Amino acid sequence: MPIPLVNLQQQHDELYDEVRDAIDRVIDRNDFILGSEVETFEEEFAAYCEAKHCIGVGSGLDALTLAMRGLGIGQGDEVVTTANTFVATALAIKQTGATPVLVDHDPGTYNLDPRRLSAAITPRTKAILPVHLYGHPADMDPIQTIANEHDLLVIEDACQAHGARYKGRRCGSIGRAAAFSFYPGKNLGAMGDGGAVVTDDDSLAAWIRAARNYGSTVKHRHAIRGINSRLDSVQAAVLRVKLRYLDEWNETRRWLASEYCKLLGGSDLILPTERDDTEHVYHLFVIRHLDRDRLLEHLVRRGVKAAIHYPLPIHRQVAFGRGCLVPRPVTYTDTFCDQLLSLPMCPYLTLGDVESVAHDVLIGLTRLSAPRTLEDSVSFSESPLPG
Ligand SMILES: *Cc1c(COP(=O)(O)O)cnc(C)c1O
Repeated sequence: MPIPLVNLQQQHDELYDEVRDAIDRVIDRNDFILGSEVETFEEEFAAYCEAKHCIGVGSGLDALTLAMRGLGIGQGDEVVTTANTFVATALAIKQTGATPVLVDHDPGTYNLDPRRLSAAITPRTKAILPVHLYGHPADMDPIQTIANEHDLLVIEDACQAHGARYKGRRCGSIGRAAAFSFYPGKNLGAMGDGGAVVTDDDSLAAWIRAARNYGSTVKHRHAIRGINSRLDSVQAAVLRVKLRYLDEWNETRRWLASEYCKLLGGSDLILPTERDDTEHVYHLFVIRHLDRDRLLEHLVRRGVKAAIHYPLPIHRQVAFGRGCLVPRPVTYTDTFCDQLLSLPMCPYLTLGDVESVAHDVLIGLTRLSAPRTLEDSVSFSESPLPG
């Protein structure tokens, strides 16, 4: 049986009746755009994040874009973020009209390295956009300190960190605003696209509430030029069901990650680390190896659906040729992209699955140190022919 990266089928089999009931409720009410299901989800998710407001939008990308636009970021501004992230982080900055400025990450946590921020700040800098990559909280305190020194906003990309904690605080409640994605494979995922902005800022919340709905709070009155990016009511109903399981699922992810680490410890793999004062929610379980491509090939042959997050950094994407600034070399980002490997991770993996993946990884590692060709292997294992 192949082991998928994320097993959504199993999750949906288990929640089938609850999700069906929730969707039926929306259909019975003919309440498809915003309305009570979205409002209730927004209240529940804000409470979950320990924040004042949640505004449901169409995607994580839109959540990031709207949060920044609502805070006045636009043309001529610079936003500093990590070079090692999903392309949406930088695309959202571009969509506001601002320029993404990429800095390297900390080699231990893969998150934005606060020690590299000062060198990237210019008079045009408006905000810092840390990403809680792979579900591990970015080091928010030093980031906030530097932001305060330079009078900058801090906006969290929490799209991979639903439920994670930094020094006791939920990711998403730490910066001025945070963006979440409910893409199906995220720790809290819908059955389609969805996203949310979370914030304690009343006026920002009001702005985004209008902006996501054509800029109107009163029908046919448009105070701002908004967009159409509303969290779908059917998706809100699905998310309300799944939110009830999120903490339990994150606990399972953490347990599976610790089992992976036990099984893979002592090999020459570099395993994920977790800072003492954080709760990592293992959206992804990312390891590192110098011979990553051959290890991945081996795993794919064994039916293990491992993947790479991310194979090509943003500044090397065609779309960003001149579209972003890289003020200092991002050496870790540029080298680690050839070494990172995400092993299957989701709360519906069993301990047996993790053992089997770890077993395949360890076998793969022994093959890597073995000779590559048949000819080589012959000369290693047989004595020279006489003569
Ligand atoms: C998923 C993700 C996004 C974008 O979310 P969408 O809902 O797909 O638009 C943004 N940033 C990060 C770090 C992500 O992982």
